[in-house]
Amino acid sequence: MARYRGPKCRKCRRYGASICGSARCALTRRSYPPGPRPARRRKVSDRGLQIIEKQKVRFAYGVMEKQFRRYYLHAVARPGPTGDELMRELEQRLDNVVYRMGLGSTRAQARQLVTHGHVAVNGQKLDIPSARVRVGWQVGLTPRGARTEYAKILKEEIRGRDVPGWLEVDREQLTGRVAAEPGPGDIDPQFNPSAIVEYYSR
Ligand code: ZN
Repeated sequence: MARYRGPKCRKCRRYGASICGSARCALTRRSYPPGPRPARRRKVSDRGLQIIEKQKVRFAYGVMEKQFRRYYLHAVARPGPTGDELMRELEQRLDNVVYRMGLGSTRAQARQLVTHGHVAVNGQKLDIPSARVRVGWQVGLTPRGARTEYAKILKEEIRGRDVPGWLEVDREQLTGRVAAEPGPGDIDPQFNPSAIVEYYSR
């Protein structure tokens, strides 16, 4: 069953990064920007590049500007490098954890699992995609979520999905545990956190 991913992959192609998070991103087939091709390439300023880097990450994690700025301000107040702290906060969002566990093929799908009340944290339903999931916490499906047709398909699909080292996943039970804080090494190489810090700190 193919899902329509046109608009999302339009952004992937615009920003030259797999924003949709899908293994079947259209970017892998068409790596040029959408729309008619410009007669000549315009040079992008440093400021323009910072905006692009910020938007890329903001769209990928599905965060509104206001909240994204709040993440940045939190990150500034933390002891570590601001870019790393910002990315850690984004990675610890519940919708992202569900995606990284392999319970969704994209962050958008993972978010939908959360908002539809199919995700439980420490045994309790939690339907807030932005909720921060801490080290040691357990994430899985609710009893209702586990009975869905989707959960059956997922048991097959999850086998082929990679899980980052900071998460431990039981693919049979479709449950996981945050084993550690995501670190700088867990940042997607297509993202440039320091450009985002430059964007907000000027
Ligand atoms: Zn895409």
